[in-house]
Amino acid sequence: MIYYKTREEIELIRQSCLLVSKSLALAGSLLKPGAKGIDIDKKAEELIRDNNAVPGFKGYNGFPGTLCISLNEGVVHGIPTDYEFQEGDIVSIDCGVFMNGFYGDAAYTFALNGVKEETIELMSVTKTSLYKGIEAARVGNRLGDIGHAVQHYAEKVHGYGVVRELVGHGIGQNLHEEPQVPNYGARGRGSMMKDGLVIAIEPMVNMGTKSVTQSDDGWTIITKDRKPSAHYEHTVAITKEKTDILSDHSFLEEAIKNNPELVEIPIKS
Ligand code: MG
Ligand code: MG
Repeated sequence: MIYYKTREEIELIRQSCLLVSKSLALAGSLLKPGAKGIDIDKKAEELIRDNNAVPGFKGYNGFPGTLCISLNEGVVHGIPTDYEFQEGDIVSIDCGVFMNGFYGDAAYTFALNGVKEETIELMSVTKTSLYKGIEAARVGNRLGDIGHAVQHYAEKVHGYGVVRELVGHGIGQNLHEEPQVPNYGARGRGSMMKDGLVIAIEPMVNMGTKSVTQSDDGWTIITKDRKPSAHYEHTVAITKEKTDILSDHSFLEEAIKNNPELVEIPIKS
């Protein structure tokens, strides 16, 4: 069952997403060669708890972290560890927050200096595909329109692999609600989007094969060919007036600008 949100509920989800956005910005400000995911995770948890909120992922199906930190060939669900980040790494960070009864969810893939040009291109295309998906997220359109927009851009135009096994989702009082929001699909198919639908759109795009597998740590999803993967996510509210991006990547993009260890990821025109 899909829970359509009232305007008041959308504002509460926006507040949770704002804290997610600030947590991702904090993570971005701390990323550098030698830094450890486990330390960044701890800082993010402190920020969230200082705001009278709760990390959304910690304890979810037993997940141990506040952040999912997935490195290079890691797609999603990476555990924060004491690995020391290195030049050339790409680091996908996903954050969820529960506050005032509602969840927020967003993700961003960061790149440390020294990253290959072809990897920046993958990240740029993945980030752009998120906005292509959001453009298709409108009252009266169907979920397949979102998936088609992402898939067409990432696969047909750019030749990358869109992950099938993991999808976006409704979000609200639960972290994962109906409907599922695949990053692939056909125009005009799937259920119609109605006023008050709040969903997380989150393309996961691989440089090589779309196939993924689980790593030995029992959590991290990695690409089968071990080539890099990128992941960008926004929580969006779809109303008859507009489609409203509730999470805000401007904080973390400011953090990237101010962090000389990181490379900016442009949106493609
Ligand atoms: Mg997420
Ligand atoms: Mg999500």
